[in-house]
Amino acid sequence: MSVVSQGPAAAGLVALTFDDGPGPQTPDILDLFRQHGGHGTFFVLGESVEGREEILGRTIAEGHEIGNHTFSHPHAMDATDDELAHDIARCQRLLGHAPVLFRPPYGEDALRCSRIAEARMLPTTVLWSVDPSDWLERDPQAIATVILDGLAPGAIVDLHDCWPRHTSTEADRTPTVEALRIALPEMGARGYRSVTVSELLAAAPIAPG
Ligand SMILES: [Zn+2]
Repeated sequence: MSVVSQGPAAAGLVALTFDDGPGPQTPDILDLFRQHGGHGTFFVLGESVEGREEILGRTIAEGHEIGNHTFSHPHAMDATDDELAHDIARCQRLLGHAPVLFRPPYGEDALRCSRIAEARMLPTTVLWSVDPSDWLERDPQAIATVILDGLAPGAIVDLHDCWPRHTSTEADRTPTVEALRIALPEMGARGYRSVTVSELLAAAPIAPG
């Protein structure tokens, strides 16, 4: 199975994931993980890295997982296989061939994208099971509520720490940061911890019965 939208139902484990970064507010998210524990998975957009190499380095150094989210955030529907392969490879070179996870922009055409990514040494394509739409929603409490209501063993939550260069949506990611400030301590209180997607996928499910 190379396309996943959730992990095994491992007790108390979920994966918070972040797309389109690194961005100016990624360090705030890293600070919150440092304060409350746990790790995230950051699906890096190649074009976002320039000038933010230090932030990417810190993200890796602090034990978070890095995934490939293409270089320029193309719509898969509008791109040929070759164009997608090139865009994925361009991001992968920037990331030093380390990532094993891929997330298609917009989650679009995931099965086809997964086959192309798999051929580029990215065996697992990751979608999500909880979608707070934080790229659109500006109320931190509303974002936090979707995260907390979606808490279930194995859940994968889709958030955003930056934005594609060509986008009409609001760039400022303060609502996401403030939502995490609410959600992370509450997750802990409910017995949940965010682990990386690779850790989540490797976790043992709760024994039935
Ligand atoms: Zn994206």
